[in-house]
Amino acid sequence: MPAIGPGAWDALLGLPRSDRRLQVALGIHPQLLPELPEEDDAPALERLDSLLGAGGAVAVGECGLDGPSAPGAPMERQLRVLDAHARLARKHGLPLLVHCQKAHAALEEWLARTQLPDAGVVLHSYSGGPGRVAAYVGRGCHLSFAGPVSWPEARKPLEAVRLTPRERLLVETDAPDQAPAPHRGGRNEPAFLVRIVEATAAALGESAEAIGMLLGENARQLFPAFRR
Ligand SMILES: [Zn+2]
Repeated sequence: MPAIGPGAWDALLGLPRSDRRLQVALGIHPQLLPELPEEDDAPALERLDSLLGAGGAVAVGECGLDGPSAPGAPMERQLRVLDAHARLARKHGLPLLVHCQKAHAALEEWLARTQLPDAGVVLHSYSGGPGRVAAYVGRGCHLSFAGPVSWPEARKPLEAVRLTPRERLLVETDAPDQAPAPHRGGRNEPAFLVRIVEATAAALGESAEAIGMLLGENARQLFPAFRR
């Protein structure tokens, strides 16, 4: 469960303590930046550093670039905040969970010039289509697919699934958004992950059991907390 912003961090950190199946990431979502005063960015990132140092999070995120949020949070600010997240992920040995909506050219540039965390980079709810898979994979990213792979009109997401090397493939619900078929339009739930696994397996012409095993193993590689 990734955070969207500082107001969620303390509550999220309580969840793994009550149930170890629940693991959390801490970060500042680019869509939240327009609501946060820019002068609070530095103190919030300092607090993020100390919370990550105290343990309890398995990743840094969400963070990233959001084109539609640029009028309220200019790209320069989004990039500065994203830079800070990447530095913290490196410092704390954690993977980075990256959001990218309608900002893929800027994200590709950023990835090319940034020292990325050794623990990995996940492009969550991947929306870059088949054309950008090679560049992202070449930069070491994992691609995580959500509900759209299950929608009847899906073409590009399925092509992107097929082009992604097996060991870089992940799935997620992105709940409560983007519910998979047949729940589309309703509130998404973690339990619907199985629908996304099935759609991913169908795209690859394999059984849901086999692809489920593969995806589980990929997730455990990235997030050691799930190995115990
Ligand atoms: Zn997102």
